[in-house]
Amino acid sequence: MLGFDKSHHGQTASYTKYDIGQMRRTVLITGGAGFLGSQLCDVYIARDYRVICLDDLSTGRLSNIGHLLDHPSFEFVEQDVIEPFQPKGCIDLIFNMACPASPPKYQRDPIHTFKTNIQGAENMLRLAHKHGARILQASTSEIYGDPEISPQSESYHGNVNTLGPRSCYDEGKRAAETLFYDFRQQYGVDARIARIFNTYGPRMDPGDGRVVSNFVTQVLRGDDITIYGDGSQTRSFCFVDDLIQGLCALIHLPKSPGQPVNLGNPEEFTIRELAEIVIEETHKDARIVYKDLPVDDPRQRRPDIRLAHQMLNWRPQFTLREGLRSTIPYFMAELSRNSAPSPI
Ligand code: NAD
Ligand code: UDP
Repeated sequence: MLGFDKSHHGQTASYTKYDIGQMRRTVLITGGAGFLGSQLCDVYIARDYRVICLDDLSTGRLSNIGHLLDHPSFEFVEQDVIEPFQPKGCIDLIFNMACPASPPKYQRDPIHTFKTNIQGAENMLRLAHKHGARILQASTSEIYGDPEISPQSESYHGNVNTLGPRSCYDEGKRAAETLFYDFRQQYGVDARIARIFNTYGPRMDPGDGRVVSNFVTQVLRGDDITIYGDGSQTRSFCFVDDLIQGLCALIHLPKSPGQPVNLGNPEEFTIRELAEIVIEETHKDARIVYKDLPVDDPRQRRPDIRLAHQMLNWRPQFTLREGLRSTIPYFMAELSRNSAPSPI
């Protein structure tokens, strides 16, 4: 598992304030039983932090953190982030990751998704203020909506529909960014925002419904690959190890960037290309079938990561094929446990 001391891409972020000559540090990770949050739990346990993982297990899985449950520095709190949370002891860092990320899952209860983004963010910002903690928000490329420019830089304000099936997520995440800005302005909270682009890798839920988990599990099961629309829409896929390095570099940057930072892999693929690469990398045959494109499905998505490179000296190291070579065996193991539901 990754640690900060891994000299990664010449990262400039300094960890001194949090790692040296201080009392034991505590990190709170909301959504810590999810795909990304559980990887953060591992990173901070390895760095000898006290880790509090708050999760309502709505899309996360206990199996992601099962190996940590008996660890003396790890505490799991099963709770909705919408509810107030009063931890024992002082919190130094907060990663606010709690929110379903897969479109079928966040659309299941859109009002709750919206509240998770807004009330959850407010609760965590108030906690950060009270504890003098540094807080990072897991924002998203979805705040750019269906972008009119490519690649998307942080200065682009987006093209988002307030009324639609994706709005609970997109507008919820936009409003959360506003709260982060306001708490910084009004109370001086050290609030940082990562705009995460599509990320994949081990610990993704095979039944998650996102495109990489769907395509890989479909091919491994011998099912047809389902492309929504004609497959000409694009996405840029970031391998999870790269993303986690970026999140850690951002929260440990001594001085806040004072603006959101895109984190993603700028290599852009059409969904049809992704399907072909998955077929090649699994060494299996699969038929492609076409289904209706969901409403408001963005046409393209590609991050401009110049800011992350300048401020964090960060850029992704894994190509899509390399990342898939680590991800496919994970999905094979998950499917062989026979507990994974079929893709949505
Ligand atoms: P995930 O669904 O695997 O993890 C989300 C976690 O949050 C789950 O463990 C879930 O149980 C928990 N959760 C959801 N609602 C909650 C609530 N109300 N209270 C407490 N816990 C709650 O998704 P992920 O891919 O790990 O995403 C983590 C974060 O990163 C999310 O905020 C997501 O919006 C953001 N993000 C992810 C991606 C990506 O490609 N993975 C891209 C952009 C942004
Ligand atoms: N998609 C697809 N087949 C699937 C799942 C998704 O063609 O089985 C498409 C989806 O319509 C979108 C892209 O793949 O254009 C990425 O979808 P995902 O749900 O992973 O994330 P999004 O970027 O849309 O939030």
